[in-house]
Amino acid sequence: MLRIGLVIFSVLVLFGCSNAATDQEHYFSGQTMGTTYNVKYVTNDQLDHEQLKQSVEQRLIEINQLMSTYIDDSELSLFNISAPNSPYLLSQETAFVVAEALRIGALSEGALDVTVGPLVNLWGFGPTKRPETIPTASQITQAKRFSGLDKLQLNGLELTKTVDGLYLDLSTIAKGYGVDAISQLLADAKLDNFLVEIGGEMRVSGTKANGEAWRIAIEKPVTTERAVQRIISVGNHAVATSGDYRNYFEEAGVRYSHLIDPNTGYPIQHKTVSATIVHPSSMTADGLATAMMVLSPEQAKALAEKENLALLLVFKEGDGFIEYQSPAFQQIVTIIN
Ligand code: ADP
Ligand code: MG
Repeated sequence: MLRIGLVIFSVLVLFGCSNAATDQEHYFSGQTMGTTYNVKYVTNDQLDHEQLKQSVEQRLIEINQLMSTYIDDSELSLFNISAPNSPYLLSQETAFVVAEALRIGALSEGALDVTVGPLVNLWGFGPTKRPETIPTASQITQAKRFSGLDKLQLNGLELTKTVDGLYLDLSTIAKGYGVDAISQLLADAKLDNFLVEIGGEMRVSGTKANGEAWRIAIEKPVTTERAVQRIISVGNHAVATSGDYRNYFEEAGVRYSHLIDPNTGYPIQHKTVSATIVHPSSMTADGLATAMMVLSPEQAKALAEKENLALLLVFKEGDGFIEYQSPAFQQIVTIIN
């Protein structure tokens, strides 16, 4: 009698702890920012799942209306066509994202430059077409007159450009911001366990329904196939990877990256093939990953160690790849595979 009682009791305790009988993983996805988004979350509540998806989509539409360069009357587009040398009043949200872009720009000594648009276009990675030939030195000098973080000043909510034709593009950081915003929305809906992803920018909280850590795959930086470099878990953090392996063009055997070194005006030319950042903020991870890709390997390592940033760099060596993991990366990240 006593034995049966104990068994039933311990079974109840087990279920009570993990909620395994009721916790379920839910999932939805859609399109935003020229890419896809995915949301997974765990709940045992009678949540209105359709309503949650609608709130997420609504929030993404709001963010696009502020920060997309593909929407002619977005706040960012209106700033871009506004007159120079007069303060332009931004929304709190856009000012917050611009401030972070400028902070990471300064931290990386200009490697992340949200005004690099004219150079990106010149090299054929912008909305305008790919160039027939490599730009000339004088074309590059000309384009550089319209870009540079020194030509942008943020004072509270007031943003001023000091040259006409400056083009502010937040796309290196806006997807990450979107992930943070959706994560906040889920947290406000009392969800603790979720994964949010927009176009490869990802943030996780808590665990999967079975209590295991969310597993995140970092792609192998190869163009020929989609293979996995690492499978990691990161606790409550965001993960962003910037890579040079999918967007590039080749001419006369030389590979031209879609990432431009703002200091030279030329596409980056070094042996880093991907940079991954793990950070509490997806926006910061997004911007820093791109900055780390633009910096030389030595500069990227030095910055990660100085600022205690969790950084994984992958380099091509011979037929294979070698890695650098910063001390903070080794602390925060659990490598599953
Ligand atoms: P990745 O996944 O490689 O980081 P993103 O889409 O986040 O790619 O950002 C790459 C885009 O950012 C490029 O296509 C280009 O438009 C722009 N870009 C290129 N060089 C820089 C730079 N130094 N700073 C900021 N943005 C850049
Ligand atoms: Mg990026």
